[in-house]
Amino acid sequence: MDAVDNANDVIWQIGVFDAHCHPTDIMASIKDIANMKARVLTIMATRSEDQDMVRDTARQYPLKDSTWNARNPSSRYVVPAFGWHPWFSHQIYDDVKEDIHPDQVDHYQTVLTPTPDDDEFLKALPAPRSLRQFLQELEERLAEFPYALVGEVGLDRSFRLPQGPSAMTGDMKNKTGCSDKDYTPGSREGRPLSPYRVSIDHQKAVVRAQFELAAKLQRPLSVHSVQAHGLIFELMQSMWKGYEKPSKKERKRAMDAPNAHQGQDFPKGRNQEKRPSYPPRVCMHSYSGPPDALRQFLAPTVPAEVYFSFSTAINFSNASTAKVTNVIKAVPDDRILIESDLHCAGETMDRLLLEVIHKVCEVKGWDLQQGARQLKENWERFIFGAAPLV
Ligand SMILES: [Zn+2]
Repeated sequence: MDAVDNANDVIWQIGVFDAHCHPTDIMASIKDIANMKARVLTIMATRSEDQDMVRDTARQYPLKDSTWNARNPSSRYVVPAFGWHPWFSHQIYDDVKEDIHPDQVDHYQTVLTPTPDDDEFLKALPAPRSLRQFLQELEERLAEFPYALVGEVGLDRSFRLPQGPSAMTGDMKNKTGCSDKDYTPGSREGRPLSPYRVSIDHQKAVVRAQFELAAKLQRPLSVHSVQAHGLIFELMQSMWKGYEKPSKKERKRAMDAPNAHQGQDFPKGRNQEKRPSYPPRVCMHSYSGPPDALRQFLAPTVPAEVYFSFSTAINFSNASTAKVTNVIKAVPDDRILIESDLHCAGETMDRLLLEVIHKVCEVKGWDLQQGARQLKENWERFIFGAAPLV
């Protein structure tokens, strides 16, 4: 028992970094961040209700520069992520190219599938809001925090809209140890489902606009993808067109050519001098794709750094353990992140982070100290970029 505790102490001392979580879903838990063992939480915004909460939480636990660790290892920090989640994408209308103000029922009939004929259901949904206006607010929020990410954004082919008012079930309370009494409104947790989905074309418009803002500001992304890895990859690929790195073959051909100079005359990568048109770093959160799908994200020609983050809740539920083991083995050591994906800060979050660190270390064959160091380095590189840290 002592040996286990000591090993865990070493992990906490090195530092634990949650790459993706939602504690603003229970605002009453935010005060508990100060007493957590985890050093930094990367907190996602998802919908209209939580954008200001994430901002206020980040103001409360500010991480001002990349020297944070050297200065005060006992402090706790929050890195905010601002974005609009695909589960709420129907609440936005796309007025980026055209100045439109759609009627509520018309809008929802356009973006939901199958087309609902239940006007009562559509009128009970929130009034849809402008994508253009949201993007402006998003840019302002990102400007306040130099290390803020764009997230949680993405595509989800399997979710359906909930029906009726938000409510947590007894099961969910037990799982997380959190009380539901102060649950932030707007969540879809614990509600019966309607037959309606958000059309994938609409989801794509909402996510693309946010990817483009991340590219413009050169911020990392935290991406939610369910049955949509191919589509996410296509979107990223369309953004980095012309910036691909040379493939191994091209590299070799250039080296072999007469008068070749190392690092020059590659047929691709011609735009390397300009500011890149794609987000520099991307985290595929609670990555659920098969090992094969990793290959395209990790191809040598891909100019963005793609990370894969794993959580106990999503990735190590009984049904998927074998799959995730193979995926973790296939992800390069320097591209793995860990996360709780939990909606409540405190001891449960610490425990879930510790659990997933143990599991990743076991699969990778790392000892705990080595694993904790690697995961720390990965998180720092994902947030701050490749610039050397003090
Ligand atoms: Zn999430």
